[in-house]
Amino acid sequence: MSLNWQNLKDNRDEILKAEIGSLLFNLGKTHIGFSFWKDFFKDYENEFKFSLYKEYYKNGHFEDELKNQNLKDFIFNTNISINGENKNWIEYFKGDVSSSDIVKKVFFKGCENINSGIDKGSPKEQLKGKLWISNAFGSFKEEVIKDNFDDKRRVFFEKLHRFLDENNYYDNPNWKHIREFVIKELKNWYSHLLSDSRFPVNDVTLYDQAYMSATMFKASIAGIFLNTTQSQNYISNPQSIKWQILGVQYDKLSLAEKGLKPAHIIWYREKSKELDDVIKNIVESDYAFGNEIYRDESGIYFLVPDGIKIEDIENVKNKILCEFKCSFNDEEFPYISFTKPSRGTMNLTSLLKKAKENFLKADNSLKSQLQNVDGAIGICQVCQNRLVEKKEDEDETLMCNICRDRKRGRVKKWLHHQAGETIWIDELADSNNRVALVNLKFELMEWLNGGLLSSMLIRHENYQNWLCNIKSFLKLFYSDINVLQIDLSQLGNTITPEQRRELGQKNGLINRLKRDLKKLKDFLQKIRDNRLNSFNQQIQTGAYTDILLGLMSKFLQDVNRLNDKIDHLLSDNEIYNLLSKEDINNLNSLKNELKKYMVEIFILALTEDAYIGCKKWEENFDDYIQQIFFGSIVGTNFEKEIKDSLLNSKIDWQDEKIKWNELKEQDIDLLSKLLLQFLLRKNPSPARIRRVWESTQEFFYDVKEKILDSFTAIRTKSSFGQKVPDFAYLVNDEKFKNKQSYKQYFSIIDPTPISWQFIIPTNKVEEFIKKVQKLYYKNFKYVNGKLPLHIGVVVQKSKDPLYVGIKALRNMRRDIKEWKEIKKEGKGLLPDLECYEEIVEQNNYAKDFYSLYETDNADYDFMLLPSDKGVKKYNPTDKFVVYPNTIDFEFLDTNSRRNEIYYKNGKRIALLKQNRPYTWEEFEKFEEFKKIFSNKTALLHRLVSLIYSKLQDWEDNKEDNKESFKVFMKSTFKRIKKQDEVDVSKIFDIENFDFDEAKKFIDMFEFWHTTLKEI
Ligand SMILES: [Zn+2]
Repeated sequence: MSLNWQNLKDNRDEILKAEIGSLLFNLGKTHIGFSFWKDFFKDYENEFKFSLYKEYYKNGHFEDELKNQNLKDFIFNTNISINGENKNWIEYFKGDVSSSDIVKKVFFKGCENINSGIDKGSPKEQLKGKLWISNAFGSFKEEVIKDNFDDKRRVFFEKLHRFLDENNYYDNPNWKHIREFVIKELKNWYSHLLSDSRFPVNDVTLYDQAYMSATMFKASIAGIFLNTTQSQNYISNPQSIKWQILGVQYDKLSLAEKGLKPAHIIWYREKSKELDDVIKNIVESDYAFGNEIYRDESGIYFLVPDGIKIEDIENVKNKILCEFKCSFNDEEFPYISFTKPSRGTMNLTSLLKKAKENFLKADNSLKSQLQNVDGAIGICQVCQNRLVEKKEDEDETLMCNICRDRKRGRVKKWLHHQAGETIWIDELADSNNRVALVNLKFELMEWLNGGLLSSMLIRHENYQNWLCNIKSFLKLFYSDINVLQIDLSQLGNTITPEQRRELGQKNGLINRLKRDLKKLKDFLQKIRDNRLNSFNQQIQTGAYTDILLGLMSKFLQDVNRLNDKIDHLLSDNEIYNLLSKEDINNLNSLKNELKKYMVEIFILALTEDAYIGCKKWEENFDDYIQQIFFGSIVGTNFEKEIKDSLLNSKIDWQDEKIKWNELKEQDIDLLSKLLLQFLLRKNPSPARIRRVWESTQEFFYDVKEKILDSFTAIRTKSSFGQKVPDFAYLVNDEKFKNKQSYKQYFSIIDPTPISWQFIIPTNKVEEFIKKVQKLYYKNFKYVNGKLPLHIGVVVQKSKDPLYVGIKALRNMRRDIKEWKEIKKEGKGLLPDLECYEEIVEQNNYAKDFYSLYETDNADYDFMLLPSDKGVKKYNPTDKFVVYPNTIDFEFLDTNSRRNEIYYKNGKRIALLKQNRPYTWEEFEKFEEFKKIFSNKTALLHRLVSLIYSKLQDWEDNKEDNKESFKVFMKSTFKRIKKQDEVDVSKIFDIENFDFDEAKKFIDMFEFWHTTLKEI
């Protein structure tokens, strides 16, 4: 069906109002007296005003704080009308205590709950020590301080008032602009606050939660305006609301590759950022049908309503294509597409994985034909898109007028930013006239698709116990499988009337036992008949509060009592001796069976939050399962896994229900396993996934600020004139500053969640690597070995065109298809990083929650991790799977050297370079090597040519020459130890020095000598 874009457009302001209101629904949480925080601020008890956030809107707290009458009137009297429901705007600030059905159902239940309450599971530990925010991987980021609560809120209202007043928005509100203001302010403020006080959910900030919930809500509201028939379904069944991700993909790295000189590269880098912001504006404000959730070197991605097809968005698409045409003058167009719908954001990876393929499918419909120009002398070497009419001067590369203007514009702009990153490659070159292009790249797919979140826990529990518990629970109450089948009707029939008389009272026990078993069976049937009642519903047969607490625990009590009776019977010699062998067997079997059913009710024990939520909304077990189970699988890899299993036929996918009465034991096994995983792992909620990529992107910004910004040099008029003679005339410009300190690096692209590329002086490479490793350990110590960071270094001569190095650097990203390619399995593969742990992390046992790794001998038999193994806490004595951090390098002495940078299964293909990349642990040997040979260059050269020649002579017949090679090298190393006092045994096992080791030797030489020229 076609979508009503006109309706969307007419109601844009309503959508933006709804979004702003929902962004602010946490205001009550920013009070230190709020129940989560008050224990941490006991010294300020006199400032406590309320402890529930809904109370904030009662008793005039909120109104008092607004102070200004105009602001008060604005918030309380502005109307919002959605789908025929007219409300005061203030109702959109109130979350679940709102009088609006749209807010209560669509926002709170359909969107907010995904990021909080129900789907978050139930962590049980309060934060210890202080309130603190961790990154997505358990490391300390910052303490939550008192200043960021009530005072900041008052300042926010004050600022909001001034903003509205100064812009005359009280009379004539510009909602687009107001929304931008609120988001900017909230981001700066809420990013320093938490949404929960429990560990380990202190990884999600209040901003992550508010922004993602509001984003989902905005997309849902837009969905209602686009397709009004949807609204009733959204309100009656908010848990079925889904979203999809809109991707606008284009290859930002290839834009950087066009650059011959930094000026062009910066132009493309800045232009693509500008363009991303323009597209963001189109989606978020002009059409207001979604929000940005992610961007990286492959494009920009938005969360939008379900039910839109690519042919439905011609209008949006054309607008975006026009922006591309005008930004890049026909050079670059994007591919625009949607993911499948789901209840989360994990489908993002389906687009990210296909990025390279999608770049080739770019929509070039607006691209103009190349105009033939009379007297053209060739095609532009930069854009490779336009013809060149004439050369400005003889030395210049062929460049079209547009590219030349861009470059000139960029140079002028530089005069205003001389203290920043240099744009002159010659200011980056070291004394050997070389520069190092560096690429830092995280492998992030298994995190963004939620897979590795199953290697982090929300709580520790005894997995096997709970698995048995859940299985028994489901079998007993939520299946129709025959249980308690043991027949006791013959019990005691072998006892004669005389013996019975002698037994007296004890004889009654036998009859009571039979009666109790029958009662228990009847009672079980009653529970099964009522199992889909609301959790609140009272059952007439007794004063039970609800089905779980009442009926089920009563049933379990009865099981216990029956069990006691059997024990009694079996332990009484007098009766025991009179019973037949069959009776005894039956009683023992019954006892064993009952034991299985003496379960704890997992819904209560593991998911208290969800249970409370369900009761509040008068929901039943099907609703619970829809949230916990279907909410976690629909549209994810789990869905595929289940559809391939036998369980598939027991599922009504349309209504998201399990066909309980059809379940067999094996179905219950799989169902229980999945449920338990969803209850114990860290839930991949949109807010948490956002936090994951934010943590890696922040890391790159940290690298920039804490490491690269310290690489500085001084620029004087004369140094500039010497280094950049072509532009020496700039020193005469009045803006040129003499003795200016500048940053001695240059960003090729801006940091993204996945990667960052930049250029540094070659003599800084060693220092850089060490500092990056330290920073990584500080930020990611608990996930070292499952969050691989790959460092690639390409060194080239500063006079060579930059695109050569940038293209080589792209190869060195080592893009992998599957994590299997880089996996290592073994004992003790991870270094001890305890020295990087902070006390506050240790106090909360961060390691126990975050440092679980895949192993065959798992404690948690979780599914769909990258190696398809379960996980347990790391220890050095067992075998674990890790995905190591790595380093690779190449010196581009010739143009064709780039072709040697190809990988297969994570390793280089080129014969001599098959050991590359090296893990960080292996790389420590490189440092030893440098120490040993620093002052022994002549010897080193002799050794290298010796090894080279032997390798060439002997490697053809590798097998035959293996032993001779070993013997030869062993004696060589022994000789140099004696003669030159050089001992390589610290690095190499000289007893077993084989061809492979020899290649490592050569690599170390290549790194320190050929590439960095440091020895
Ligand atoms: Zn050009």
